[in-house]
Amino acid sequence: RKCLSLIQKTKFLNAYITVSEEVALKQAEESEKRYKKGQSLGDLDGIPIAVKDNFSTSGIETTCASNMLKGYVPPYNATVVQKLLDQGALLMGKTNLDEFAMGSGSTDGVFGPVKNPWSYSKQYREKKQQNPRGESEDSNWLITGGSSGGSAAAVSTFTCFAALGSDTGGSTRNPAAHCGLVGFKPSYGLVSRHGLIPLVNSMDVPGILTRYVDDTAIVLDILAGHDPKDSTTVQEPVKSFILPTLTDVSKLCIGIPKEYLVPELSSEVRSLWSKAADLFESEGAKVIEVSLPHTCYSIICYHVLCTSEVASNMARFDGLEYGHRCDINVSTEAMYAATRREGFNDVVRGRILSGNFFLLKENYENYFIKAQKVRRLIANDFVNVFNSGVDVLLTPTTLCEAVPYLEFIKEDNRTRSAQDDIFTQAVNMAGLPAVSIPVSLSSKGLPVGLQFIGRAFCDQQLLTVAKWFE
Ligand code: GLN
Repeated sequence: RKCLSLIQKTKFLNAYITVSEEVALKQAEESEKRYKKGQSLGDLDGIPIAVKDNFSTSGIETTCASNMLKGYVPPYNATVVQKLLDQGALLMGKTNLDEFAMGSGSTDGVFGPVKNPWSYSKQYREKKQQNPRGESEDSNWLITGGSSGGSAAAVSTFTCFAALGSDTGGSTRNPAAHCGLVGFKPSYGLVSRHGLIPLVNSMDVPGILTRYVDDTAIVLDILAGHDPKDSTTVQEPVKSFILPTLTDVSKLCIGIPKEYLVPELSSEVRSLWSKAADLFESEGAKVIEVSLPHTCYSIICYHVLCTSEVASNMARFDGLEYGHRCDINVSTEAMYAATRREGFNDVVRGRILSGNFFLLKENYENYFIKAQKVRRLIANDFVNVFNSGVDVLLTPTTLCEAVPYLEFIKEDNRTRSAQDDIFTQAVNMAGLPAVSIPVSLSSKGLPVGLQFIGRAFCDQQLLTVAKWFE
């Protein structure tokens, strides 16, 4: 009830698309009954959680923040949602995002942008010497980052204790950094994608947003493992992810990728990054500079692969099976075209168009196949670094702290989003685990996150290091 009332109080943030109040209250009642009998379904029994609105939820509208799916009620739960419910978690609602998770700001969904709760924090307001919430200009608020900005705002305002995001190029880590949270992207294949409405199948993973690393580990422990409904999940049984207490980091080797020192990186993030490296060094860890020579191609390579998979994925939204259908009925083709024009925003339509261009017979080899090869080179950069003895990489998560909405939309939004993903996208192309951890507040009074990247399927080691650092 406390969480539900906080959802109402923070409605102006636009974090939730759907609040599943009745479902949550019923689940809470059942959980309480179990508690009284001394029974429990598991670690999440009675714990409020929220789910990004691109995961299918049985009986609850799932929109992807798009006109195309408004009113669509899936007949089944995504595997990750089912696993949380099986543990007794209370589903508070479905959170806001960029349409079909395409974006880095949570500004592009059909239900409007998500506002960063830190816009109204005492720390930020004092530094800006502005009036507290209510007396200030409403237009001055900050973006949450994205595309899982609704999930980040939901956890950040205590309306739930964990939220599912999705991460294709940074969408869980980016808003976590901007909202002062832990944002975790598991190894590709560790957590089922069944029921996660796809953006880029070869890069998508369900992500976890929490306040503390230990909470992430508890959720991961529940979610990880083979799913017969997702053939890309690992077959081997997974070990427990509950974290040991790491007190000695002196045996660790931390890599600092030199290519990540980009000119666009804010001086403050840069200095926090270097302070973090110093901290490890002062505790006896080996900190070395490493090279990921193909990093410079990662944004463009991601663009070709992402739009190509988008062009293919979005073909299913034709007005026949689910979601929106236009009124035009002169021909099937006219119905498809008008449905898709009305259903998708221009970001989605732009990506479909680019992707179809890259997939044309005369472009396929030069763009799509070439991008696949470059992707392998990018992934091999990481393999080489880890083979040389590095345990985890330490990098920034974003170029700077959250920016005001009006600034974010001023520039060419798509170019800007692309730049913002410089530290996160290559990780998805390589399928590695990565986590963004809040480090401290900037001089503007806003949270800054740093990212740790681990070896494939060494998710527990990665989170253990993150917990030590937290
Ligand atoms: N910003 C990237 C994009 O728009 C990543 C999005 C994501 O991770 N879902 O494609």
